[in-house]
Amino acid sequence: MKFKYVIVGAGLAGLTLAERIANVLNEKVLIIEKRGHIGGNVYDSYNEDGILIHNYGPHIFHTNDREVYLYLSNFTKWNDFWHRVLTYVDGNLVPMPITVETINKLYNLNLDCSQVEKFLQERAEQIDEVKTSRDVALSKVGKDIYEKIFETYTKKQWGLDPGELDTSVISRIPVRLNRDTRYFADKYQGMPGHGYTRMCENMIANKNIKIMLNTNYKEIIDQLHYETLFYTGPTDEFYDYKHGKLSYRSIQFQFETLDKNEFQEAPVVNYPNDYDYTRITEFKKLTWQDHKKTTICKEFPCSDGEPYYPFPTKDCKAMFALYEEDMKKEKNVVFLGRLAEYRYYNMDAVVRRALDVFGCRCQAPN
Ligand code: FAD
Ligand code: UDP
Repeated sequence: MKFKYVIVGAGLAGLTLAERIANVLNEKVLIIEKRGHIGGNVYDSYNEDGILIHNYGPHIFHTNDREVYLYLSNFTKWNDFWHRVLTYVDGNLVPMPITVETINKLYNLNLDCSQVEKFLQERAEQIDEVKTSRDVALSKVGKDIYEKIFETYTKKQWGLDPGELDTSVISRIPVRLNRDTRYFADKYQGMPGHGYTRMCENMIANKNIKIMLNTNYKEIIDQLHYETLFYTGPTDEFYDYKHGKLSYRSIQFQFETLDKNEFQEAPVVNYPNDYDYTRITEFKKLTWQDHKKTTICKEFPCSDGEPYYPFPTKDCKAMFALYEEDMKKEKNVVFLGRLAEYRYYNMDAVVRRALDVFGCRCQAPN
């Protein structure tokens, strides 16, 4: 079989590229996907009770990249959703990320914004060189808040002490000296009106795009002729683990449908210090679906299972650097996405990367 373009992986990276190739270049493209569905980790579906769930954990779209927002808006309308998270500490539910409200609730105070700034300055530790996620938290909020909110959650999530993780992990969570309790402050935020899977289906509704589901690309790649292969799967698998197996953190998602209208006060509640799970999502609060029952999902992080999170440690980065040397030598293979680039990408960043790759690697016909 001959295709000018072949894509491995039907996640957002692969689908964005396929959409551009099919619609802008009017070229045929083959996507090979080992799962039985498109969308990668943004896949959502209706469960047996008819409740829309995110099969691979809660996904909230947020970006400051206007072009990415407008691009995806071609394929979905958005519910005007602003994500909120509460975290369960010392028997109270307090807003995450840390805001003036969080400090007041945690310590039973009634401080204004400048008083909270002073409160945190007095507690923040002086760290000359911030090298780890532990340093990030201690230098912003001090030991007590670090222990209450970050230390145990991070140990559960990663199986490692925050002192072993690079700064990028806890830096994802801002500390706000105001009363903005939204989880993300980005300019554009939303939830696809009919879900992510519908958005993804709309992206590839073009007869130039052929998809093979339930197929590991290794089973058929030798029978294909292509000019360019876009690879969005794990890089170590591509190279048959020649430099070793890259570590990914996985999660077991435990879904429960309850015979009641509502379960919790916010779409997501974090449990830093109690239970073995890190957080509970209640999907109706993300999707605004009307239903007399409600489905929740508990997340139990683990090391074995589907690769979800690349590990931001020194050793893992060093191993990936060896693979990167090989990747650079490839002439007709382009690596992109969370697995292939071993990067903690959000959805918007993956779409941005795919649009950029399209811009440099795909030529319009003369
Ligand atoms: P993927 O979605 O992983 O797609 C890669 C595809 O390649 C998969 O479908 C896989 O099956 C396929 N594949 C792998 N190996 C092979 C093979 N050998 N042959 C064929 N196919 C193969 N981002 C946000 O912006 N907001 C959020 O709220 C958010 N929440 C998240 C929550 C969780 C629990 C997780 C894990 C991620 C979250 N993300 C979130 C990140 C988001 O999921 C990713 O940015 C995005 O899905 C990455 O797309 P991708 O195409 O790079 O990878
Ligand atoms: N984190 C934490 N406590 C929380 C929330 C997050 O310690 O209540 C840390 C944890 O290490 C986590 C990181 O901050 O992995 C990033 O959090 P985010 O909510 O962005 O995680 P994701 O949604 O990507 O799993």
